[in-house]
Amino acid sequence: MDYYKLANEYQTPFYIYDFDKIKERFDKLKNAFKARKSQIFYAVKANSNLSVLKFLASLDSGFDCVSAGEIYRALKAGAKNYKIIFSGVGKSIEEIEFALNKNILYINIESEAEMFLIEQIASKMQRSARISIRVNPNVDAKTHPYISTGLHENKFGVDIESAKRMYIYAKKSSFLEPVGVHFHIGSQILDISSIQEASKIVSQLLRELIALNINLKFFDIGGGLGVCYKDEQEPNLYEYAQGILASLQGLDVCIGMEPGRFLVANAGEFVTKVLYEKCNGEKRFVIVDGAMNDLLRPSLYKAYHEIELLSDNIKGNLSLCDIVGGVCESGDFLAQNRKLAPTKTGDLIIVKGAGAYGFSMSSNYNTRNRVCELAKENDKIRIIRKRESYADQVALEVEYLKD
Ligand SMILES: *Cc1c(COP(=O)(O)O)cnc(C)c1O
Repeated sequence: MDYYKLANEYQTPFYIYDFDKIKERFDKLKNAFKARKSQIFYAVKANSNLSVLKFLASLDSGFDCVSAGEIYRALKAGAKNYKIIFSGVGKSIEEIEFALNKNILYINIESEAEMFLIEQIASKMQRSARISIRVNPNVDAKTHPYISTGLHENKFGVDIESAKRMYIYAKKSSFLEPVGVHFHIGSQILDISSIQEASKIVSQLLRELIALNINLKFFDIGGGLGVCYKDEQEPNLYEYAQGILASLQGLDVCIGMEPGRFLVANAGEFVTKVLYEKCNGEKRFVIVDGAMNDLLRPSLYKAYHEIELLSDNIKGNLSLCDIVGGVCESGDFLAQNRKLAPTKTGDLIIVKGAGAYGFSMSSNYNTRNRVCELAKENDKIRIIRKRESYADQVALEVEYLKD
């Protein structure tokens, strides 16, 4: 790929996503579960660009949404309402009404209070809400604490005993229809034994519910599959599937999956341009035109992204440096302590593994325009989101008038 040509045509910084790679990952995951009925619900928050969603919808993906805004996006991208599910601990009344009005497949409930609210809203609408309950199985996903969600100390889901009580209640309600059970214990999980352990615990609940004549159709195992950013060993999908399938022996359910990062992380790159180099004493900095507002993961989680320097004329020895942006925060860096040859203004830096939680976490901090997004498919490149303008940024602000 000619990054310089792209940089000339679209300016920098930008994101570029390889749709063929997304498809490859999608097919791989789907295949691992081919022995059973399964449905992938792509986690929209990982990368919510409409073209990405539309492409995934064309592969028959469903969508896991964590806000009404994401449901809106999925529908706008052409997703079928019966392939959309709705998760999240803090759904508002308006969001629940929105989801019920759109008649999506089911809502993943995360507390008893939420269940009562959904029942109340459904009764007002004189209909029944399809629901699933997110169980917090209290297993340790052994990942970064900010993205660990399956322990009782995390805010997500309800414990098994509460879930059981809630299913019994929902089964009796005229306005609730329990159709599934759900868990999602964290993100960037490399040791899948924790997911398999969760699956075992939750499948046991499923069996207990069958004994109570509560028959659920969907066994939703969440997302969280880890990917390789540096030298991590990605989970073996076959083993992953086998572990889940083993816990479901004798149960007739459709396996729901909610991968986000797994499908898109390594299909995306963030491309930024070198502005300056400088040394503060011994410390070397390469200052680029992309920053933490464009790609927050390094600042937020100290996440590692592979860096590649593109230069028409690389000269000199490698030495350690930090690659930093222009935002007024010392925590604004894309990479730290990397060995890089001397750079010059106009060189390009490719930040790898940036397809997930990259653009979707970006902001306008420091009144910086959000960058443009490109897609590559069959060696053809097109723009899928234009770069913002300053006018876009202030468009919703209301002029201050002095009385
Ligand atoms: C964030 C999230 C996902 C996706 O997580 P990944 O680690 O990107 O696969 C899936 N399900 C729920 C409920 C989530 O909150």
